[in-house]
Amino acid sequence: MSAIALCKKYMKDSLDKQHVDYDENLCDARLWKEKPKTGGLGYDNIQCSSKKVDGCECLCKKHFKLHSEGKLWTGLITEPRPNIPVHPNAGPKMWSTDKDGNDVVKEKKNKVVCPEDLTIDQLNVLMDKKKKEQIFKLESELESMKKKLEKANDELEEAQSELDEVQSDFEEVQGDLYTVQSDLETKTYEFQEAEEELYKVHHHISEYVQENYDGIEVVNSEYLKIMEDIVKEYTETYGSEIQEEYMKRVNERNKAAFWEGLRNLC
Ligand SMILES: [Zn+2]
Repeated sequence: MSAIALCKKYMKDSLDKQHVDYDENLCDARLWKEKPKTGGLGYDNIQCSSKKVDGCECLCKKHFKLHSEGKLWTGLITEPRPNIPVHPNAGPKMWSTDKDGNDVVKEKKNKVVCPEDLTIDQLNVLMDKKKKEQIFKLESELESMKKKLEKANDELEEAQSELDEVQSDFEEVQGDLYTVQSDLETKTYEFQEAEEELYKVHHHISEYVQENYDGIEVVNSEYLKIMEDIVKEYTETYGSEIQEEYMKRVNERNKAAFWEGLRNLC
């Protein structure tokens, strides 16, 4: 084997090893680092570059905290990698190499994750993620409903304000109506009073006319009686038809004159 071939073999072996350049002074956490141009596939051999901290079980402070919360989803560099790494928020990820160290070519279609391949912790993480998504969805719906409620409230207030305005206008019109009605009642009362006065005057006139009519009747009948007496006296005295005719004419003329005079009086 040539020197170049040996060198290539050495490089391949070192890349294939689980713990490339393992540094025992550094934190044992495996870091997630995406391999370029693979569509999000991750290296499985990147060690945390922070120093181990005493009392943190061979981890740095940050990874010790995550580990104690069960959220060290990429595992330890000193242990085999998880079959499927499940990111607490983003969900399942894929390594850039398979179990045998061959490069993985990511399929374009969505990979279906088989639940049997996941550990209890990974399932819990997935459950948490689903719950968070549901909570987020519910919170969004709640927010949307709150906004709708606020909008409805605004519309209600606007309608109420319009109603108040209409009510105010109505009260104003009603006030005017009361004034008109009151004027009308006053006018009606005045009219009734005037009518009563008119009736009284009419009554007085009727009485006056009646009284005068009676007087006229009396005068008339007395006059006629006197005239008859005169005619009778003349007739008896002269016994002549000419005389009688003459007196009759005089009588008629006087009667006409009397009625004319009376008409003038009235
Ligand atoms: Zn670390």
